[in-house]
This record gives sequence, structure tokens and C-alpha cells, in this order.
Amino acid sequence: MSEILKDKVAVITGAGSGIGRATALQLARNGCSICLFDLNDNRTEEVENTIHDMGRESLFLDVDVSDPQRVERAVQTVIERFGKIDIVFANAGINGTLSPIEDLTPEAWDETLAVNLKGTFLTVKNAIPHMKKSGGSIIITSSINGSRKFSGFGMSAYSASKAGQVAFAKMAALELARYKIRVNVICPGAIETNIGENTERTKQVDKISIPVVYPEGNQPLEHGPGQPEQVADLVMFLASPQSSHISGTEIFIDGAETLL
Ligand code: NAD
Repeated sequence: MSEILKDKVAVITGAGSGIGRATALQLARNGCSICLFDLNDNRTEEVENTIHDMGRESLFLDVDVSDPQRVERAVQTVIERFGKIDIVFANAGINGTLSPIEDLTPEAWDETLAVNLKGTFLTVKNAIPHMKKSGGSIIITSSINGSRKFSGFGMSAYSASKAGQVAFAKMAALELARYKIRVNVICPGAIETNIGENTERTKQVDKISIPVVYPEGNQPLEHGPGQPEQVADLVMFLASPQSSHISGTEIFIDGAETLL
């Protein structure tokens, strides 16, 4: 196992599944102590146990990232246990309700924006005071939706939240550069995870869909969706000193899907 992140402490949101889980394991393999923020779920405990089995430190905290008090308390607990934060991966997200705009309820809009965008803001906001002294790296999971892809019919709330994350990351990169905190944003294409569990596609989407068909598949590079571990490799790079001059950048990881 590598020690490139030895003595570093990372906070990862949405750490119990998919991209967050793969990244937690990857950073731990590289020597990092990992604080796993997710909703109470035995999947996150399994990640915590796997990291302990590697001989690395890990702490699972039951956090809804859209809840200001719970995020604040969780960050406080991290500081009590580890004394600092070096790396933040603001990754928790949901697809939410897929619906034509005219049928989308304000409540459904709010839910998606609250988890994806407000959750990112709250995670970053609460970590900043503890990163200012020594600097660090913040990575935010956006998506190709909202930046390069707009044919995810019914995903107007999701795409708006994901576009918001890109703008937020760039604002944060400039604001935090003086503290040597780098901020970057990743934009995955289709990745094989459990995000379908947090997706509610309404029947009305059929009435606004425009067929988009690529007979040879959507991802020219590998002819299929990416794996969470491939995204974790990118996050590992952005978390490590190997990306020391990179800040305020969005990076697409989609097997050339959005170039079609
Ligand atoms: P996933 O469902 O496998 O993992 C998401 C995790 O976030 C889950 O463990 C879930 O419990 C957690 N989560 C959801 N709401 C939360 C909340 N309110 N507070 C705390 N944790 C919460 O999905 P994933 O694909 O790994 O998603 C991770 C990120 O990647 C999301 O931001 C998603 O929008 C983004 N993304 C995914 C894809 C894809 O194709 N899978 C593509 C582009 C972007």
C-alpha cells in the first residue's frame, strides 16, 4: 500500500456507496484517515470496517448533508477525533425527481437542490475554518449533466444543481487560494453505482423526451459505463500533491460520452 496521503484526514460525503465508497477505499489504501459522512446505512458501516481491516483509521458519522446542524456537528466530531481536515470530497447526491418542469413540484425541486447544492455548500463551509492553517484539497462531484449534457430529460433540478456546483467550485477556488486550499470539480458521465435508488422518474417525462440514440453505444472509449474505482483514481490524483498546481478546474470523466 502507498503512503502518499500518510497523516492526512479526509471527509467524504456519500461515502457508503458508489463513487464515495470507492474513493474512501482508495484514499485509505494511500494512507489517509477517512471520515465517512452518509445517511445511517449498514453499507457505510461496511466501508468503515473494510478500512479498519486495512489498518487505517475510519469514522462513520450519520449525516444528512442538507441539514446545517448535522453537518456542523459532524465536522466538530471530526476535529475532536483527528484535530484537522486536509481533504474534502463533497460527493453526496441524488438524482431526485425526474419530471417535466411544469409538473415538477417546488418540494421536489427543493429536495434535489438541498442535497446536491446546499449539501456541497454546507460541507465546504464547515470544513474551511479547519483547513485554512495548513491548506488542502476540496473535490466536488458534479456531473456531465448541467455542463456538457442537456438531454437528460426531466433532470432540470438535477442539472441545475450540478451546474451550480461547478460555479460554486470556481468561486471557492479563488476565494480559498490565499489559504492554499485547492478546489476542483469532477464531472462524471454514466458510472455504475446505486444512484438509481435515489431516482424517481415520473411517467410524464415521456411527453418531453426527444429520442437520442447512438447505435454504437454512448461511451466510445469503453462501450459502457465507467466504474466507481475509475472515478476514485481521479479523486485520488486531485487529493494528492501530484495535482499541486491545479485549482478551479472541472474535469470530465466520461469515456468521451459527451463528445458525441
Ligand atoms: P450512490 O447512490 O451509489 O451513492 C450516493 C451516496 O450518497 C449514497 O450512499 C447515499 O446514501 C448518499 N446520500 C444521498 N443523500 C444524502 C444526504 N442527504 N446526506 C448524506 N448522504 C446522502 O450514487 P453515486 O453515483 O456514487 O453518486 C455520487 C455522486 O456522483 C452524486 O453527487 C451524483 O450526482 C454524482 N454522479 C453520479 C453519476 C452516475 O452515473 N452514477 C454520474 C454523474 C455524477
